[in-house]
This record gives sequence, C-alpha cells and structure tokens, in this order.
Amino acid sequence: MAKLKIEDMKIVMKRLFGKKFVCQKCKSVIKLNPARLSKARCRKCGSKALRPIKKEKKK
Ligand SMILES: [Zn+2]
Repeated sequence: MAKLKIEDMKIVMKRLFGKKFVCQKCKSVIKLNPARLSKARCRKCGSKALRPIKKEKKK
C-alpha cells in the first residue's frame, strides 16, 4: 500500500521536476524544474529562449 504511494510520488516528481526544454538558439536539450524556468539558461550558449518538449508518450 505504501509502495504504491511512493511510486505515485516518483511519477509526480518526474512530471514536476523532470521536464525537458530545448534551447531555441542551439537546440540543446536541458532538463530543469519548470518553476525555475524564468531563471534557467542554456548551458551551452547562455540563452534564455527555452521551449518545452512535447514529445511525451502517455501510453
Ligand atoms: Zn543554447
């Protein structure tokens, strides 16, 4: 019973903090917390132009 809840938490954590973004300048993929997106920068070129990836499969 408790295990199920932990698994659920892991999924929630992944969804909250494991989002991937793409730099619009150099197109490198960055994994970051969406809550910190305003402060996030591309590690390669330092650009703030980041877009979320929508390639998630739900099935
Ligand atoms: Zn970049």
